[in-house]
Amino acid sequence: MRGGDKAAVARALAHLERAPEGSDTLALLDAAYAAPRAHVIGVTGPPGVGKSTLLGALVRAFRGQGHSVGVIAVDPSSRRTGGALLGDRVRLLTDPEDAGVFVRSMAARDRLGGLAEMTVAAMVLMRAVYDVVLIETVGVGQSETDVAGVADTVLFCVQPGSGDSLQFMKAGIVEIPDVAVVTKADMGRPARRALVALKGALSLNAAGRDGWEVRALTVSAQGTSGEAGEIDGLIQALDTHRDWLAEGDRLTRQRHRQSEQWLREALRDRHGRVGLARAGSLSLGPGESPFSRLAEIAARL
Ligand code: GDP
Repeated sequence: MRGGDKAAVARALAHLERAPEGSDTLALLDAAYAAPRAHVIGVTGPPGVGKSTLLGALVRAFRGQGHSVGVIAVDPSSRRTGGALLGDRVRLLTDPEDAGVFVRSMAARDRLGGLAEMTVAAMVLMRAVYDVVLIETVGVGQSETDVAGVADTVLFCVQPGSGDSLQFMKAGIVEIPDVAVVTKADMGRPARRALVALKGALSLNAAGRDGWEVRALTVSAQGTSGEAGEIDGLIQALDTHRDWLAEGDRLTRQRHRQSEQWLREALRDRHGRVGLARAGSLSLGPGESPFSRLAEIAARL
């Protein structure tokens, strides 16, 4: 897998789904957890905003920089978006011959698009293999907050001319992203207006995260002369956030928090509130794998 053999990654993910609690699965997950490599970027926003198109452009740009990319497209299990599964659409936008790109669809936990426990396991595996992992989720709902629980950097997409997402953000319903983009910048005025509104909504939540100042920009991912420059600007914003996380122990602390949260949710999903109450302390030691810990607790319950 480390060599980037796509078939090996696919086999590992298939095994993960077939035998999520097998001891070999656990060993694989623990090893992957101990060797994180990728910058994990969650891409979210309402259907039709242009996420898949943007993801395709991001993949091409990262590949152009020589980075390998893993993509996890989380599909709301109960419905299909625009007739095709997200993952299929993203796959169409990437070169099937390219060994440096791996695209995987995963079902969401529920129709609101909440991330399934398995998505985190798949992310951990892919994080150990690729330079960048992109996780695409749909909608303004559970997935919105969930993606912040697995990604290092959250990228939120806003459609020109749609006030909704901005209203949600103002109302604090949507998690504040690290980077926000107005898509379809080639639409001109509506996109520029949406950027002003977006910056306004973000400034209302300026106290945001740990002193990080949210970046907001417009991007066109499709067929305009400005495309390359804008995508590069977006990548720069994402890189800046990654570098900011890398200062001190921000990234380590954030991933640690996310792992503890994952452990709590996985326990609650499997064993209910009662199990959660009987589990005792759920704090993880530095670098301790939540996967082994979950297995250990489950064996006691
Ligand atoms: P998703 O549902 O968020 O994944 O959105 P898609 O990527 O499928 O895009 C939705 C629609 O917006 C499609 O018809 C795209 O062709 C269009 N679209 C995506 N990006 C752009 C863009 O940069 N400019 C313009 N004008 N249209 C775009």
